[in-house]
Amino acid sequence: MTSTNPSASSFSKRLDGKVAIITGGASGIGAAAVRLFYENGAKVVIADIQDDLGQAIASKLGENGCYIHCDVSKEDEVINLVDSAVAKFGQLDIMYNNAGIVDGFFSGILETSKPDLERLLSVNVVGSFLGAKHAARVMIPRRNGCILFTASACVNLAGFSSHAYSITKHGIAGLAKNLSAELGQYGIRVNSVSPFAVATPICGGNSTQEEIERSNAFVNGVANLKGKTLTPEDVAQAALYLASDEAGYVSGLNLVVDGGFTVVNPSMVNAWAQFFN
Ligand code: NAD
Repeated sequence: MTSTNPSASSFSKRLDGKVAIITGGASGIGAAAVRLFYENGAKVVIADIQDDLGQAIASKLGENGCYIHCDVSKEDEVINLVDSAVAKFGQLDIMYNNAGIVDGFFSGILETSKPDLERLLSVNVVGSFLGAKHAARVMIPRRNGCILFTASACVNLAGFSSHAYSITKHGIAGLAKNLSAELGQYGIRVNSVSPFAVATPICGGNSTQEEIERSNAFVNGVANLKGKTLTPEDVAQAALYLASDEAGYVSGLNLVVDGGFTVVNPSMVNAWAQFFN
């Protein structure tokens, strides 16, 4: 695979010799992390349910990558994923629990059905839990490892997503923090990345360039940081930092990648602007 990241070729590779599993690695943020981790010297196992997309990406990684079908909500498939990664590459250093799904973004409590909530819980929360559990199973004996999650900026701000999605992402952030308390004694770091909105297929309607541009225009309009559009690569860069030895003493952190969106109350900023104009 040709490097798209100049920093990976001009500086030392930040994940040299490490083995990573990335769930949801066939698309969006996960696929960007696959590329970036691979370019930085990691051997990468792509785990997803979109087999054709996952296989196509893996085929570009040669002997340092592979694709394994894994529905993260099914424990036998997660066990197979972790054990196959260790059998193929000898160890597991980084488990990035990134796979996720959404429901209707603006569903109110009355429109949210129990099956909707359970579907999101099974992939986002149970899937993340199972990935972390079976990664810990092989990391604890080595007294080393890094477990990552993709949560969401909705963990820091109300009204950003549906109730069901918000419940699941709070669950992930809580799990990450709680795990960092248990696994620190084994030298295992646990962190999460929380992105603002990124135009990926997760929301539907982001498959053509026109749809991506429309989505970006909407998001950029409400974003705090102007002059830049958040990309899957930006989120993957945050995950790369947390996975690398540069974050060697960082654990229990929820790294928010939102250009300051969740710490700014725009109504105040706008009120000041009107007051002085
Ligand atoms: P995406 O749809 O491009 O990628 C999600 C991937 O997860 C897909 O490849 C999908 O096939 C896979 N997946 C879904 N269910 C699965 C399952 N049961 N088992 C294994 N894989 C499964 O979307 P994305 O935006 O790259 O999402 C990645 C993560 O980022 C998700 O956890 C999402 O909640 C989170 N996130 C996204 C945004 C955003 O705006 N895109 C913002 C905050 C957080």
